Amino acid sequence: MKFCSECAQPISHLVPEGDNRMRFVCLHCDTVHYQNPRIVAGTLPTYKGQVLLCKRAIEPRKGYWTLPAGFMENGETTEQGALRETLEEANARIIHPHLYTMIAVPHISQVHIFFHGELADLDFFAGVESQEVQLFNEQDIPWQELAFPTVSTTLRRFFSDRKATETQSVPLPTHVFDILPQDRLKL
Ligand code: ZN
Repeated sequence: MKFCSECAQPISHLVPEGDNRMRFVCLHCDTVHYQNPRIVAGTLPTYKGQVLLCKRAIEPRKGYWTLPAGFMENGETTEQGALRETLEEANARIIHPHLYTMIAVPHISQVHIFFHGELADLDFFAGVESQEVQLFNEQDIPWQELAFPTVSTTLRRFFSDRKATETQSVPLPTHVFDILPQDRLKL
């Protein structure tokens, strides 16, 4: 950030009085421009044990497979954001969305939130941000061509949870965890 979005004067980078972190501050109009993590909301749509993935038509990670997800818009809830992205990217609707994973990714200042739900119907098709939308069985998941670590982690959890919950017919649990830079090597 170089110029103030309020008054267009040059910005300073300093610790404001009473604060303990470096901030972008405009000394002309006294505005502190806080920068905070962004939330990516999405879904894990399933159908009889298969998982819906979208092949990305846009950067970053164009051509790689992902779960439908995107940055939340102002004024919406996490669930509304997740369902909107699912509709935009895959023209897919899910029933009874349930919070499945919430993953902090501090080195890129993002939090990724995925809701699980069964597809309401099979009338999905690729939206403008997707090249293809397809259901995958576990053995057909393109693990080496997944777009983001939060997607591969969510999928791995899902297949292992499903094995554990199937026999007891209990609902899927919710997972809250973090992905740190060193974890990328393990994914
Ligand atoms: Zn200013």
